[in-house]
Amino acid sequence: MKREFIIAGNWKMNKTVEESIDFVKELDNKIEVNDRVKVLIFPPFTSIYSIRNLSDKIKIGSQNLFYEEKGAYTGEISPLMLKNLVDYVLIGHSERRGIFKELDSDINKKIKTALKYKFNPVLCIGETLEQRKEGETFERIKKQIDEDLKGLKEQEIKSIIIAYEPIWAIGTGETATPAQAQEVHGFIRELLNEKVENPEDIFILYGGSVKPENSFDLLSQKDINGALIGGASLKIDSFSAIIEISCKIAK
Ligand code: PEP
Repeated sequence: MKREFIIAGNWKMNKTVEESIDFVKELDNKIEVNDRVKVLIFPPFTSIYSIRNLSDKIKIGSQNLFYEEKGAYTGEISPLMLKNLVDYVLIGHSERRGIFKELDSDINKKIKTALKYKFNPVLCIGETLEQRKEGETFERIKKQIDEDLKGLKEQEIKSIIIAYEPIWAIGTGETATPAQAQEVHGFIRELLNEKVENPEDIFILYGGSVKPENSFDLLSQKDINGALIGGASLKIDSFSAIIEISCKIAK
C-alpha cells in the first residue's frame, strides 16, 4: 500500500495578500519535503496571483470554481480566470454546502467543469452530527459520492482527490478518532471500487480539526492519504509540524 500524502491547507476567508506572501515564504524556508508528500494551499482568490510562483514545494489551489465561463454571476470565480494560476480546486466544502446552499447537483457540475479545464478537483464530503447520531453516515457518504461523481468516466474519477470531512469535526476542535476516520475512508474506497479499477490509487484525505497532536495517528491509518486542514494551516508552526510528521510516515 502506497504511503504518499497530500497535506492541504484551506485558509478559508483568512489572510490578506501581504500575509499570504509572508506565510508562503516562511513556510518554504521551514519545510523539507520528499517526493512522497505534496503540500497544497487554498488561499483566498485575492492572494493566488501573488503567491503562485513563490515556492517549488507548495502548490496552490482555489477554494471554489463556478461552472460557467463568464456572465452575470456576481461573486463567482470562472475556470478561465483560474486557468494557469492554480492546479487544484476545492469543490463542495461543507461551508459552501451549508452556508451557500450548494447542492450535490451544483457540485457535480463544478466537478465536470474542473475536469474539462484540467484542474485537479478536491471533492469534500461528510456527514453532520445529526446524521452520525442517527446512524446515517454511510448512507450520506454514498449519496454524495454517487451524486457528485454522476456521469463521470472511470479515468475522470481516478483523477479526483476526495476529502472526507465529518462536518461535526470542522473547526470544532473535535476530531474523528483514527478508527472512526478509517472506517469511513475504507467505506469510500469500497464505493470507489465499484466505479474504478485500482481504487487504492485515489487519494482520500481526512479533514476535521487535524493538528500536530493527532496527525500521526490519523495519517497512519491505511486508507488515509493525507489531510485537509483549516485552523492549523493558518500558523506556520502547526502546519509545518503536520508536514514534517507526514514526511516521516511517507518514508
Ligand atoms: C476545513 O476547513 O476543511 C477544516 C477541516 O477545518 P479545521 O481543520 O479547522 O477543522
